[in-house]
Amino acid sequence: MCGIVGFVGAEECADFLVKSLKRLEYRGYDSAGIAVFSGGKIKTVKAKGKIAEGLEKKLAEDGKPSGTCGIGHTRWATHGEPSDVNSHPIGNGRVSIVHNGIIENYRELKAFLSEHGYGFESETDTETVAKLLDYYYDGDPVDAISKAMKDIEGAYALGIMFRDFPDRIFAIRKESPLIVGKGQGENFIASDVTAILDHTKDYYLLEQDEIAVVKKDKIRFLDSHGFEIEKELKTADWDLAAAQKGGFEHFMLKEIHEQPQAVKNTISPRIKDGTPCFDECGLSDEKLKNYKHIFIIGCGSAMHAGMVGKYIIEELSRSPVIVDIASEFRYRNPLISKDDLCVIISQSGETADTLAALKLANEIGADTLAIVNVVGSSIAREAKMVMYTNAGPEISVCSTKAYAVQAAFMYLLAFRVALAKGAIDEERCKTLTAELTGIPELIGKCIEEKAQYQYVASKLIYADSLLYIGRGLDYALSMEGSLKLKEISYIHSESYAAGELKHGTISLIDRDTPVIAVATQSALMDKTVSNVKEVKSRGAKVVMIYKSGTDIGKDIADYTIELPCVSDILMPLVTIVPLQMIAYYTSVLLGRDVDMPRNLAKSVTVE
Ligand code: GLU
Repeated sequence: MCGIVGFVGAEECADFLVKSLKRLEYRGYDSAGIAVFSGGKIKTVKAKGKIAEGLEKKLAEDGKPSGTCGIGHTRWATHGEPSDVNSHPIGNGRVSIVHNGIIENYRELKAFLSEHGYGFESETDTETVAKLLDYYYDGDPVDAISKAMKDIEGAYALGIMFRDFPDRIFAIRKESPLIVGKGQGENFIASDVTAILDHTKDYYLLEQDEIAVVKKDKIRFLDSHGFEIEKELKTADWDLAAAQKGGFEHFMLKEIHEQPQAVKNTISPRIKDGTPCFDECGLSDEKLKNYKHIFIIGCGSAMHAGMVGKYIIEELSRSPVIVDIASEFRYRNPLISKDDLCVIISQSGETADTLAALKLANEIGADTLAIVNVVGSSIAREAKMVMYTNAGPEISVCSTKAYAVQAAFMYLLAFRVALAKGAIDEERCKTLTAELTGIPELIGKCIEEKAQYQYVASKLIYADSLLYIGRGLDYALSMEGSLKLKEISYIHSESYAAGELKHGTISLIDRDTPVIAVATQSALMDKTVSNVKEVKSRGAKVVMIYKSGTDIGKDIADYTIELPCVSDILMPLVTIVPLQMIAYYTSVLLGRDVDMPRNLAKSVTVE
């Protein structure tokens, strides 16, 4: 969530800090600020609201602080409302910090510091860290940081400046991600590499309890006792173009268009001799054959991709799969054992609840497989096995291509599990895999059908509430479709198992409640059609999404969207496109902030 940037170099840094913060806007935030060493002082400018309306206006009115070393922040408030004073950087003139995360013991720290004469201006948990650093500081910043780290509980990434050391910034982290960028005569800190890509692709991943001391021509890393350590320099394989809109109106639309390539990048490298291969992470057929249960854990869209996984793995391998929401799993004393496989899905690899669920599964002794997009992320490092989805950066808060690649990955897993367990033979596995490799092209075709999605969207914008219904895999897709629509259009929507409607929810139906019926599964078609008739006869306007070649009957729906014909089991990978596009165009027509919907953040690093 929210963003940290820092710069030490030879040039004026205020503009760079603001520009980099804008690159991190996608993570979601409610206020922003910068602090720059300027004329022997730390000068801070910060404001509530979006960068363009708050911080930039203030900088234009008050003037930019001049200097070549500084830190910046976009805040996603957790403690204290979004306001100028609660915005970061936070400090007292001697120390200034930017913080991502939550200081869990801030009350105790506040009480302790108050006893020692410290006053507090903001309502933030962050201010306790700034004051604690000041309390311990006696001329040696690293010593003060080491001591403070021992007292702080919670999750944090911190960028720190000490007035007495105007040529450097300090950085530490625990749980929340932070990287240190290495340039030519200039160095950086950032919460993710997209913030600094136009200056450098070279970076270090800061690990738990390491301290970085960043000067313009030198970066030092120390452990928490102050001993120097060597770190490996990494190079980002994402370029700036991938992190920019590239002519599309929104990142979301761009990322929907990237899906064919992204799905290809996920599946192709994993297919050997016509069947999915998991050798790269050490997941052997022997292991797959012997797992008693497979758990799939995620949050939001990642969990929905897991739902697709559950249906297809159970269908093909006839073995049980439990899908769980990470925040539920971790607090439920889950019935997972060392005979089970726990598949952890996360785009960013930093999702706090998912990370905690993974740690729990590891503790219990289950085998853990992370399916993540961001290389080197916390979940990737924590899991016993990891496979990357290779989707490139996903900037829009509303996940599209990450869902598509996670769902695609579920197929690779399902085919291999079924083969390993002897539930399908090699030939069937090869046929399914061959059909899967043809899917990216069909996803591309579905994306081109824009007019029909725009038409449906134009009918939905008047609704206060709508329902998505489906059965089996179509129900799993309904969940994702409903989430997409509500998160970016702010129209309330619910997904429902079509057969379950009549047990209560059907009373919501009236002439003003559109229903989106997902009906791509041949075996369930007649049943879903009956449910569509039930809602239609109660006045609902129905949008029906179905597979070409199926006879859905005449006048069954008010609007229809026909999808290419693939095997039922693979339909989710094409069905997702209209659901994403309808959500997108509805949000655009309503004038919403498509890429940064209110109240949301991209990488959810708080519980
Ligand atoms: N907990 C801090 C605050 O509310 C930092 C929030 C963030 O991660 O932006 O100010």
